[in-house]
Amino acid sequence: LAVITTLIKENDIVFSDEFNHASLIDAIRLTRAHSSVYRHRDTRHLAAGLAKLNRTDRQKQRYIITDAVFSMDGDCAPLAEIVRLARQYRCHIIVDEAHATGVLGKHGRGLEEQLNIEAKIDISLGTLSKAAGVIGGFVTGAKNFIAYLRSKGRPFIFTTALPPPACASAIEAI
Ligand SMILES: *Cc1c(COP(=O)(O)O)cnc(C)c1O
Repeated sequence: LAVITTLIKENDIVFSDEFNHASLIDAIRLTRAHSSVYRHRDTRHLAAGLAKLNRTDRQKQRYIITDAVFSMDGDCAPLAEIVRLARQYRCHIIVDEAHATGVLGKHGRGLEEQLNIEAKIDISLGTLSKAAGVIGGFVTGAKNFIAYLRSKGRPFIFTTALPPPACASAIEAI
């Protein structure tokens, strides 16, 4: 909620997998950006949507948002192909690794680590509430974006921080 509502503006364009997690769907709605929902894991459908962008759309900020491991079916996003399309159509990528955190990749960093494409993903989300068994979550991305999020992310600023025992438990679990 904080990442998407802080970063994405009303005039931006969002491409979103139809099976994305409720938190992503609700956040995208709150931005009032134009959203284009592509069929689950269907990169042809995504590519068709991207190919339809006209000249004015191409001047807008564009995002592709997907779960890494989908919460209902447990299948994985076609991230390598999404990276290729994002490069071709100059989109930013936001990946929600909630179900992949602590599960996929050599160090448990998720699907991006497993596919060796971490450097190509702009923003990545993870949770401490699933494999780590605690509560809370985290965002990774460029330093300037993280600084921006810290000072502008309303859902982050206007809520109570994690209690120290939760942090200690998460560190221990990791
Ligand atoms: C569970 C889940 C979340 C929410 O995680 P919390 O840490 O419980 O807030 C977000 N995104 C996805 C894809 C999830 O599966």
